Amino acid sequence: MQKDDLLRLLRDPNLLPSEKQTLLSNIAAQAAALDMPCYIVGGFVRDLLLGKLVNDFDIVVEGDAIKLGKTLVKKFGGKLTPHDKFHTAIWRLPETWNLIPDTLDLITARKETYLMPGALPTVTPATIEDDLRRRDFTINSMAIRMEGDHFGELLDPLNGQADLEEGLIRILHPRSFIEDPTRIFRAIRYEARYSFNLESSTFNLINPESLDIIPRLSGERIRHELDLIFEEGNSSQMILRAGEFGLFKMIHPSLPLFNADYSDFLDVDPTLDIPTSRTEMGYMLWLMDLMEDGIMSIAERLDFTSDLAYSVWAVSQLKKSLPFLTGSKPSVWTFALEKLPPLSIYVVYLVSRENALLDFLSIWRHVKPHTTGNDLKARGLEPGPRFGEILTQLRAAWLDGDVTNKQQEEDLLNQIT
Ligand code: ATP
Repeated sequence: MQKDDLLRLLRDPNLLPSEKQTLLSNIAAQAAALDMPCYIVGGFVRDLLLGKLVNDFDIVVEGDAIKLGKTLVKKFGGKLTPHDKFHTAIWRLPETWNLIPDTLDLITARKETYLMPGALPTVTPATIEDDLRRRDFTINSMAIRMEGDHFGELLDPLNGQADLEEGLIRILHPRSFIEDPTRIFRAIRYEARYSFNLESSTFNLINPESLDIIPRLSGERIRHELDLIFEEGNSSQMILRAGEFGLFKMIHPSLPLFNADYSDFLDVDPTLDIPTSRTEMGYMLWLMDLMEDGIMSIAERLDFTSDLAYSVWAVSQLKKSLPFLTGSKPSVWTFALEKLPPLSIYVVYLVSRENALLDFLSIWRHVKPHTTGNDLKARGLEPGPRFGEILTQLRAAWLDGDVTNKQQEEDLLNQIT
């Protein structure tokens, strides 16, 4: 791409919002003053060249990123969190700028050495070209230089632009997936996100040799990649593809294929007023048909939070108990469902279409009697477990339609106290 064309993209407010353009030029000016070559890299360049809106960027410098960070804070404010070991810093932008995201990563160009496949690499400062060569795919290995007269120069030593035009996901060297098999998950994500193809030797390198390294990856790293998949718009395509490649049994022997019948539900946004999370829904749909010990063992392997493990477990338990609940009164449903996470209930609704679950989420869970504990005290009753029983009985009467107004509730209360 000609420099002028790239400049046009960088100055297009439909691709890069103008406040972000200002931020970038402020950073570039400080880098120029320090005589420090400064680049934007990775996903930003890829998406800009694809003509997509870009919002988020990492800055890579040939030099000391922490020094650049300190200069930026001195000049503009905000707060710097340096990481001396990696020569990187996170700049929390001044609040008055009101930018989202409100932090920016400043990174020293680095070289990485893998002492052991699947482990995290050792990092040493290096040139931008070294930095591009440590990356995952050619389309993510381009940089745009930012400071001074260099503004808008594209660095593309690995021919990322050509692959972008042809729609190819290509690793940088044959050992890439062995060094870091999380790249297999990333390849699948980009392939489906952009409707690209895996370049043929890249495709062939997703093979027993690289899959064999997956068991060495930490649960946290694998879960991060799976989370990223579930956050994507077409996650169903990605998770089905990951299954086809045989990734799951390498993660955990009991991890099943994703049930294709559930794949449409991955992209559903609940319309009800319940806290929702695409990733949580993804794991719930994936694991709901397993037995309890399978779920717990996978939750441990993938380093689930206890809340996530509980939500997934709740889905599987509820799904199994549906046949016993079907046809019950609303109060029976309500008291059975009340302690479960609403999103777990919603997911079971999606796969079962049991209307009582929707009634619970939209109506029944909000039904409460008028009478309160204070009213019972005012009647001279001693506070204690009996209070809860009375209130529960009143609530059940409302739920089941046995009382429909305040007077009827009062009458029932007189009968039972
Ligand atoms: P996305 O749109 O998926 O967020 P991104 O390019 O911003 O794309 P990040 O996960 O933020 O993705 O990573 C930033 C950059 O770091 C990538 O563009 C890539 O160059 C590099 N990168 C990320 N993960 C790896 C990896 N496992 N191995 C090598 N390079 C990686």
